This record gives sequence, C-alpha cells and structure tokens, in this order.
Amino acid sequence: MLNLMRSPDSVAAGAPSTSAVRIASVPTPSRPARKTQPRAHKADGRVPGELEILRAIAARARHLPGSRVALGIGDDCALLAPRAGEELAVTTDLSIEGRHFRLDWHSPESIGHRTLARGLSDLAAMGATPAAAFLSLALPPQLVQRRRAAKSWLERFLDGFCALAAQHRVPLAGGDLAQAPVALADIVLTGVVPRGRALRRSGARPGDRLCITGTLGGAARELAELAAHPRRFRLSPDAAADSTDHPHLFPQPRLAQGLLLRRLATAALDVSDGLSTELAHLSAASGVRLEVEAAAIPRASGATLEQALHGGEDYELLCTVPPDVPLPRTLRGIPLTVIGRVAASTRSRAETGHGRTQAKHSGTQTERSRTQAKHSGPDVVLLEQELSKMGQQRTRRSRLLPQGWEHFR
Ligand SMILES: [Mg+2]
Repeated sequence: MLNLMRSPDSVAAGAPSTSAVRIASVPTPSRPARKTQPRAHKADGRVPGELEILRAIAARARHLPGSRVALGIGDDCALLAPRAGEELAVTTDLSIEGRHFRLDWHSPESIGHRTLARGLSDLAAMGATPAAAFLSLALPPQLVQRRRAAKSWLERFLDGFCALAAQHRVPLAGGDLAQAPVALADIVLTGVVPRGRALRRSGARPGDRLCITGTLGGAARELAELAAHPRRFRLSPDAAADSTDHPHLFPQPRLAQGLLLRRLATAALDVSDGLSTELAHLSAASGVRLEVEAAAIPRASGATLEQALHGGEDYELLCTVPPDVPLPRTLRGIPLTVIGRVAASTRSRAETGHGRTQAKHSGTQTERSRTQAKHSGPDVVLLEQELSKMGQQRTRRSRLLPQGWEHFR
C-alpha cells in the first residue's frame, strides 16, 4: 500500500532530499502555479529523494479523482467506499523488465500504459467499472534521474500511465516504491460491479454463440515488428496518439464493451495470454466443448492465423451469448464477431474414467466435465475448411491446444 515512504530499501536511500523535483502534471487549480511548474534548469542529474518522488506521484494522482475513493494517497491505507449493492472486483498484474517489456524496445510511455491496461482488461472481462488503482514500482536509480531538461524515465512512465487512467477515470489511490536492479511494475486494480452481475468464466452453456470483440493477432504482429526494428518504435513515444495502430505498445482495454456484455453474455474473459489459452480456460471453467471456426476469427491487419490463435496481449474480450439474445454488430464502435459455438462436453465417462468416479460423489454434468477436462486437456476443437485431393471442400477438425504465452518458464 502506499506508504511509499516507509520502505527501508527505497529509491531514495541515502540520497539528499532537497527541493522538489517536479513530475510533469496537469496544472492544479488548488495549488500555487509556481510549485507545479517545471524548473528545468534545476534538473542536475541527481537521484531525487524518495519523498520527492512520492510527492510528485501524489500530485499527479490528485488529477485522477474517483467517486469511490474516500481516502487516497497519504495514509497507511486507502479507503474505498463502494455504493450499496456493489461488489468489489480486485485484480493484480506484474510487469517485469526482460519478461514483459524491454527498456531498449519499449518507450516509458508504452510501459506505463501497458501496466495499467493489463489490469483494466481484467476488470473489463468481469463487466466491472474501475474504482481505484494501486501502483508499486521497483526501479534502478537511473530511471528516476533527470538529465538536463529531459524528463526522467519515471516521469514518462507516469505520462503513459496517467493518460490511460484519465481516459477511463481511474484514480491512483496508493502503491509502493523500492530500488531494484531491474524495473518492475505491479498494478492492483479494484472495480465495482452490481452484486451478482459480474461476468465469470463458468457461465457458458451449450447452444451459446462464442464471440470476440475487435481483432486478434495484432499485438503479436507488432511485437514481431518491434523485435526486428526496435529503434523505429522507441523513437516515437507519441504513438499513443493513434493507439489503434499499436495493439502491442498501446493496447486498449475494452471497459465500455465489458459493461454492455453484462446484459448479453453468459461468460466472459479477456484474451491476455492468447485465444487458444483463454478458450481452454473457458472450456474448463464452464465444463463445455468449444468449437471455433478458424476462418471466422477476425484477424488484425497483417496478422497470421497462428498469431491470432496463440499470440498474447490482444486484450480483447472472449464471451458467450445465448442463442435467443440479439447480437449487436458492434459494441461502442468495436466489432463483435461470432467465431464459434458452445456445445455439450462430449467427453464420455469411459474416455478418462475420472468422470465416473467423480459423478458418484458429487453429481452434476458440469462437475464431471471439469474433472475430465483436468485430466484429458481442453475440450476445444478448431474447424478449418480445406480442399480434398478430389477438389472437394471439407471441414478438418483438430484439437486446439493452448500455446499462448506463459510467464513462468
Ligand atoms: Mg484476464
């Protein structure tokens, strides 16, 4: 929690704490202008004290008000005040240098944006409205240092973070700060959802249509381009201005779409680790078979089918919609595409033997299917149209195994 000031291994340990180093912010009407204006000539390359960094972050956080934060940065805990009838949704996400981003590939603005976008996407998947963010950073000292008139890496990280936070009205209510040999950003996001209305992974039912927002594979395609030409991207930190062209560097969480899906969908999850991986999660959680039409998967421009199936970090929403619910073509301007259907799990009890044992004790078809899925892999089928040797169109069915990103290997 944000008592950023109490960490013994702080960025500021041993550093002199003198005049305030400003972290660029929107002007604050309530404070004298001179205290928030940049003093570029004072930036001398020293490492600012922890207290200075915290004050600067708090100053920026003041411009991100939230209606459910009763007490923000500055005390031992933040106080959140959800309204009557609301449940709190909480998610956490870790971004580590060398694993989730590279300092020589990603601009600081992109890393700040992505840190928040990852957490917001989880809230979107549950149909939740953001209530407050908590940001913990572990950074090498040179990343908080300003050189001449240039902003520090941390200032630019916060530019990217705060721009997305302002766009989605997400207050920053706390966090922590420490010095570390590599950069690490940990985001905790809280959101609110009317009691009992959160979208879960376990609600898919046979007969539902399987749908996806937006397009897939764009993030993997852009990451491949980034790997080939890192400098081209790094030199343009303002790429966020046209974020639709940068699905990897500036992914857009589908919060508005998640709210609308609460009225349409039986289940939802975000595609953070690749479609094939999320399909496996959905199938297992709901105890159903999923059939996906390869040709129906909406691909981002230039993305291959492999990238659309297995590339991570697209942050679109995968959902299931009952057959009697009219399906809009778009949700707030983002296409909603049917990519397949939900079927009853076809796993027979004899297939694994586990289902029969489980059924004796506990009963339902869903429970049996979940047990079977655990033992025999995901019940997900990919349907691809192909030409036979005789020139006839036929459908090839193959098991779709998760090949998405794994962050622990
Ligand atoms: Mg998720």
